[in-house]
Amino acid sequence: MPAHITPNQLVQLIIPGITTVFSLGFACAWVYDKRLRYLRFLAASFGAFALGSAVQICHLPDEWKLNALVSATFYVLSIQLLAEGVLRRAGLHFRLATHATTFTLVLGGMYYFSFVASNLLVRIYILNLSAGLLMLFTAARFRNRCNGRTINHVLLWVLLIFGASFLVRTPLTVIQPLPHKTVPFAQTIFWVLLQISLALMGSVLGLVLLAAAMSDVVDRLVLERDLDSLTETLNRRAFERLASRSIADKKSYPLALIAFDIDNFKSINDRYGHAAGDAVLRQFGAILRAAVREKDVVGRIGGEEFVLLLPATDGKFAYRIAERSRIALESSRFDEIDATLRVTTSAGIAAYRPGEGGAPLLARADHLLYAAKRAGRNQVLTESLDTTRGVSELDIR
Ligand code: GH3
Ligand code: MG
Ligand code: MG
Repeated sequence: MPAHITPNQLVQLIIPGITTVFSLGFACAWVYDKRLRYLRFLAASFGAFALGSAVQICHLPDEWKLNALVSATFYVLSIQLLAEGVLRRAGLHFRLATHATTFTLVLGGMYYFSFVASNLLVRIYILNLSAGLLMLFTAARFRNRCNGRTINHVLLWVLLIFGASFLVRTPLTVIQPLPHKTVPFAQTIFWVLLQISLALMGSVLGLVLLAAAMSDVVDRLVLERDLDSLTETLNRRAFERLASRSIADKKSYPLALIAFDIDNFKSINDRYGHAAGDAVLRQFGAILRAAVREKDVVGRIGGEEFVLLLPATDGKFAYRIAERSRIALESSRFDEIDATLRVTTSAGIAAYRPGEGGAPLLARADHLLYAAKRAGRNQVLTESLDTTRGVSELDIR
């Protein structure tokens, strides 16, 4: 090793190296599963950081004011891309206007305090405080999207600590007088501390994000195993597993279950063929998926039998969802099969009784479903007496 390489320079070289490795890791994970689109933001974020620090270390461009501006551009982009990657993974994002404003303010400040009124201290504050605040804002928005997953809680804490570290570390610049022309900035305590803590925290963040990406890949594989490929709703086994999880969780009470069965489906198959029957199933699957919230569970548990499990839902609300779905199917047109084809469904709704298992709950909903069939089909029956079509219709038979 050449004698002229100082420990400082070695420390500096660690950072672009590590961040490049992470960038490649995220890019590879994206190539493996292109549906995880947020991985592109993470790959770009770590790549931008590697470029920012490489630009600084290699003095490219050599003129220091320009160098400060170019490296700051990469750093700001890196944090913005990181925020976007973390949020998009959780189904959120920052508005483009927010990013544009942040970018303009930070880079405008960096330009002013480089070219107009050169001030290293202010530049350090601008870059570090904006990075810290952006991370904390990201953590704040991500906070409600942890969905009880350990990896998400770990990620949240890493973001919080990393974000806060920018705010805490920055005042350290006053411990040692800032360099003037004689002492290079790269030899100040601030710079060394910054590099070491960035390398450590950046590695932890990168590892946690990679672990989160891996768990997303595994989740997708599990979901594919659990999903009915025709209707993209859960298959019976997966539905039963999630249903028992909901039943075990007291937070999901009151819990309602809706059982649907398409009316006279056999005759659709007989008249138009199996492929037409499949098109109807696909359509009803799409209707049910669109009708529910994220926490609800939609399953296809038989040929043309579907179930919805609705946590935190009373009978009235469940009735509304069932009616909406019934009407949506009734109003669906199947022009490619036969423009005059009308498909209907019957449904039964049962409210969970504490202490009951999943099977008796489904049996009660099924009982009402078949009562709806006997009462003439294309209707929803529910146990609760306060809805318009209630148990009274059961008593008619
Ligand atoms: P009801 O109104 O009483 O429910 O009458 P139905 O004809 O719908 O009831 P039945 O249970 O007799 O018919 C269900 C049919 O669903 C029988 C079976 O051939 C058909 N089926 C089951 N799975 C599939 C599938 O994946 N695709 C298609 N196209 N048909 C299926
Ligand atoms: Mg059936
Ligand atoms: Mg049927």
